[in-house]
Amino acid sequence: MENNPHPVEAISDPRLEMLENIFGLHSPERTLGHTAVRASNRQAAYVLRMSELGDETEQYIQPRKVSSQVLSQKYDLDDSRAKIWSLVGNDTGMNTLLQDYCTLNLPTYMVGMMAERAQKQGGAQSWGEWLVKTASDDELLNVLQWHNFNIEQQQTSEKVDRAFEWHKELFIEVANEFYEDGIISKPQKNIADIKLVVGDVFDTLLKERIGYAPIGVPEVVLQQGEGLFTHDTRVNKLIDSFSRVLTHEFVHAFLCTSFEANESAISSRWINEALTEELSRGFRMRYGIEQKNETAYTPERMLLRKIIDSSENAEDNWKLALHAFTGTDDDRVVFTNRVDVIWKATDVLEKITADIAAEEQKIVRLGRRMDRSVEIEAITQVHWKLETNPEGLLRGEVDTIVENIEVAALE
Ligand SMILES: [Zn+2]
Repeated sequence: MENNPHPVEAISDPRLEMLENIFGLHSPERTLGHTAVRASNRQAAYVLRMSELGDETEQYIQPRKVSSQVLSQKYDLDDSRAKIWSLVGNDTGMNTLLQDYCTLNLPTYMVGMMAERAQKQGGAQSWGEWLVKTASDDELLNVLQWHNFNIEQQQTSEKVDRAFEWHKELFIEVANEFYEDGIISKPQKNIADIKLVVGDVFDTLLKERIGYAPIGVPEVVLQQGEGLFTHDTRVNKLIDSFSRVLTHEFVHAFLCTSFEANESAISSRWINEALTEELSRGFRMRYGIEQKNETAYTPERMLLRKIIDSSENAEDNWKLALHAFTGTDDDRVVFTNRVDVIWKATDVLEKITADIAAEEQKIVRLGRRMDRSVEIEAITQVHWKLETNPEGLLRGEVDTIVENIEVAALE
């Protein structure tokens, strides 16, 4: 073991550049365990390369080529453990999601081995506990290698690439039609360069989101296809999600005007998601895709519909809403004024947003963890107030600014 190259030497050896293509990973750094897996790949490549050269470096060749021991401190095996624990902890729902992912996407031998080892530890253990507390560094590294490999298969799939390009072109075509029909303002951003990043479940599913469009970066991140047993079916599952999830993310990335957070009444998360999803539904209808059982952001959409539809000229109100979303600051002023007229009150959208935040805080103070279910409860509560006692909700001034609680559920 003494002579085994330390990963730092292996990684900094310039002769390894050519081997990167054989062992290289394309997945972004944010994939769980990416750094550790990359380091172990490079170490393996180094040893392989040295053995081919057969020169004085032969001393490096040892029977145990890829050691996780040396990776543990230096690279992110410990970070991976910490991240898994912060995401799943003792939460039953999260542990179930992790278990489903592991049992369906890792090789059967690994699933069996985990069960056996957990048994020896004195009974059933969750995957979260096993990965964090029981698995050896080698076992964890092996799980991460499979996990990275799964993502890699999808990230580099030509079939995925073709389907992504097809959806992009369709979206551009319909966006132009919507502009010509006067439904939205002129798209300001260029969609042609956008890239798909196959998202790690640890960055999507376990953060209660299916995908997201990072601000200021021309990419959309979608949850990896998972849940079935072969790469082909996983690739198909990823592609199946495109028409629903991609459209929503494209709307975020390309049609929603950039405004600083809290700059406008419509920049709040609930309105932003409600309008994004309403507009996405418009796209899907134009594509001719039947929409059934779609539940994305239902409470947000229902609340916004209540606000907008409560007057005779609802159709015109929606037009103003979509132009506020895709247009200029002036468009936003026109829309928020219209809402105030509908409800015969001032700062209606701000008051509703502040009340949602206040309801969330109430629930969290009772000891609940801030997650999507809290958000839904708060929005539903405010919707009910608007139905039953709008004067009570909308009178007076906007409440003292309630600090927004961080919520992971961004789609
Ligand atoms: Zn969204």
